[in-house]
Amino acid sequence: MKIGIVGGGFMGLTLAHEIAKTNATVKVFESAAQMGGLSTHEDYGPFIWDRFYHVILPTDNFLIDLIDDLGLGDKLCWRRSYTGYYVQKKFYSISSSKEFLLFPALNLWDKAMLAFTIFYGSKIKDWKKLEKITVEDWLIKMGGRATYEKFWSPLLLAKLGENHKKVSAVFIWSYIKRLFQARSSAAQKEHMGYIEGGYKTFFDTLQNNLHEKGSEISLNSVVQNVKANPQGGVTVTCDDKEEHFDKVIFTSPLNILSKVANPDLFESSKPDAPVEYLGVICLVLITKNSLTPYYVLNIADKEIPFTGVIGMSSLVDLDQTSGEHLTYFPKYVSANDPYWKKSDEELKSLFLEGVSKLYPDFDTNDIVSAHLHKALKVQPLQVLNYSETIPDVKTKHKDFYILNTSQFVNDTLNNNTVVNHVEKFVTQFKTESNLQ
Ligand SMILES: Cc1cc2nc3c(=O)[nH]c(=O)nc-3n(C[C@H](O)[C@H](O)[C@H](O)COP(=O)(O)OP(=O)(O)OC[C@H]3O[C@@H](n4cnc5c(N)ncnc54)[C@H](O)[C@@H]3O)c2cc1C
Repeated sequence: MKIGIVGGGFMGLTLAHEIAKTNATVKVFESAAQMGGLSTHEDYGPFIWDRFYHVILPTDNFLIDLIDDLGLGDKLCWRRSYTGYYVQKKFYSISSSKEFLLFPALNLWDKAMLAFTIFYGSKIKDWKKLEKITVEDWLIKMGGRATYEKFWSPLLLAKLGENHKKVSAVFIWSYIKRLFQARSSAAQKEHMGYIEGGYKTFFDTLQNNLHEKGSEISLNSVVQNVKANPQGGVTVTCDDKEEHFDKVIFTSPLNILSKVANPDLFESSKPDAPVEYLGVICLVLITKNSLTPYYVLNIADKEIPFTGVIGMSSLVDLDQTSGEHLTYFPKYVSANDPYWKKSDEELKSLFLEGVSKLYPDFDTNDIVSAHLHKALKVQPLQVLNYSETIPDVKTKHKDFYILNTSQFVNDTLNNNTVVNHVEKFVTQFKTESNLQ
């Protein structure tokens, strides 16, 4: 059986890996020149690392199993990690229970309210109720305004930008579940992980495995059209050439689906109501010296144009980055944000001004190189009643399947969730398609 997969991001490639274990052969069509989509790599000159920052949590069990399955378990490195807050022009570390108790921005009562919110949130099972209230209203209701402004607001700004005001409480519920479990129960200290060589190591290994099984990843292959084949199966058009498959699985964002797939393949309950996606604009600095001791610094300061600082080199050993320090400065923005109209040079200088405001001792001579990365469609915004408002996109053809991140109604966007989603899909797909 021949299976076509549209999209060679983390989802499409994980899917290819799982299906290629059966008696089927797979061809992945990826429009970009390199594998991985949002998880792809970047050549920073002296070293290669992820274009956008990625980290693995100790609780990412599906992802860790997949890494083991690829034979990369010994390349998975765990390190102590630190989280910081920048509140009222001061830096605070909140990386252990002790530091949390000492966090001066919150008084004892606020801390008790915060601990209660996290505990209560982690016990909630019925997430559907949380879809009806904004994350801001829910957090203020649970823990009070002071805790919201000093603790939650910087975190939400770092994760979602100003759009957090539209997002439902499901976002923080799934975040609490994922992130707060990352603190090892024994020491109550954060640990995070990465693969030696970054996600490029993962994708290169996965590609070699696919080749050994007679499957392939076709890069620079923009799928132009997907349509039903009158003789059965589905036809993919790419580079003006048609190729027939027994089955095709589509993994790219929904807006691409409506552009390339023929209407006889799928139906949408709301064709004119596209899912609202959040994008990211990210300055990446390679510097001679370290800029931050934190893996994540959450920022609540209107004068700083980015909403967080990700100190990759606070986690990743320096031999991975040729002895240089890698720091990401992201800003999450919606599709209509005026930031998209600014040129890369304007954005770079705006963000660099922000770096100097945040770190007044920062010397620009310390910069080895500066890079600007953008992605317009990163994650669907989980707005109020998201699970009811997202268009119900269904396939109309027995050989055409749709699998993408807009289907995550009660989870944050991360690769562990992607693997879980793919594995559930593949179990059913194998039965339906009689694959062994
Ligand atoms: C800033 C940032 C930080 C992140 N941090 C983390 C983290 O710390 N931990 C974590 O687990 N996850 C993290 N993620 C999330 C992770 O990157 C995503 O879960 C994952 O990359 C989603 O993969 P995907 O395949 O679903 O989507 P995508 O990566 O968007 O893949 C879709 C693919 O489809 C391709 N495509 C589009 N149109 C066509 C076409 N016409 N023909 C062929 N191909 C096409 C695209 O080029 C793309 O490669 C982060 C993401 C970002 C942006």
